[in-house]
Amino acid sequence: MKITDIMAKRMSLSFEVFPPKADKPLEPLLGVLDQLYSLEPDFVSCTYGAGGTNAGRHMEICRAILESGKTIPISHFTTIANSRDDIRKQMDACLSLGINHILALRGDIPQGWEGTRGDFTHASEMIRFIRREYGDQFVIAMAGAPEKHIEAATFAEDIAHLRMKQDAGADFLMTQLCYDVERFKRWLDTIRRTGVHIPVDVGIMPVLNKNSVIKMCLGTNGCSIPQPLAELISRYYNASDEDFRKAGIEYTVKMVYEYMALGIDGLHFYSLNKADAALTICEACGLSYR
Ligand code: FAD
Repeated sequence: MKITDIMAKRMSLSFEVFPPKADKPLEPLLGVLDQLYSLEPDFVSCTYGAGGTNAGRHMEICRAILESGKTIPISHFTTIANSRDDIRKQMDACLSLGINHILALRGDIPQGWEGTRGDFTHASEMIRFIRREYGDQFVIAMAGAPEKHIEAATFAEDIAHLRMKQDAGADFLMTQLCYDVERFKRWLDTIRRTGVHIPVDVGIMPVLNKNSVIKMCLGTNGCSIPQPLAELISRYYNASDEDFRKAGIEYTVKMVYEYMALGIDGLHFYSLNKADAALTICEACGLSYR
């Protein structure tokens, strides 16, 4: 089964997890996955920590997901730290295990990185390479930033680069977090007008902790904090973590409804390796009764 076939029929539901550090056991994450499976996700993706202390561990997780028989694993993969030969070796390893869905990314250079930047500069080049070498053996997802990738000079340039990734052979698009549904809608309308027609899977980062929201939006991704979310952060600024989390979950549920009303192709929850918030939000959005 291909994820794109599912998206052609209905909105998909999925989760992202990340591998534990090399010296940590896998079991706690396997427990989280078991809980997430109760929501019958269409796929679970696992991040790729290029050059990090957990490099390579994503394959163990993807394999465990595949062997569970519960859902489809997607392995994230970055050009950074990988030569053409490295890519071939890892794609061959994926296929030999039965993993045929990947999210092809450029990645970001880890702090203090002294290794190779890899043979490709942009994700589109790797997508073209994998498509050429492996034909249709892989379903390839690509990343997109509804509020523009932080390094792109203009929206127009960034969108042109999305089009290049699609034309290089990407099958669907997975988005960066975006708390501003209005801005998302404008971006979606624009990419559709410019010929990016592949399904769009929306990344949902639940609002659970004020410092994390501020850090994720402003610290790394250049994403906006829309007025209602800014107001929520201010109102609960000195409240307990538990009270903020409750209000944040309510905010997330409302945002998910707004996304669903746009007729998006998929919802992809960043689980942060915890199941409880995802379960609560999916329950409140009716996603547990599929
Ligand atoms: P690209 O598509 O290469 O784009 C990067 C920048 O280059 C953009 O500004 C783009 O406009 C520009 N660009 C693209 N093509 C050209 C061109 N031909 N000429 C000039 N400029 C160009 N990172 C990880 O390390 N591991 C992960 O597991 C991971 N998972 C992610 C999951 C999702 C859903 C998302 C949205 C991001 C994830 N990331 C991950 C982060 C991602 O690697 C970064 O956002 C990275 O900075 C950009 O990756 P990209 O694939 O979008 O790059």
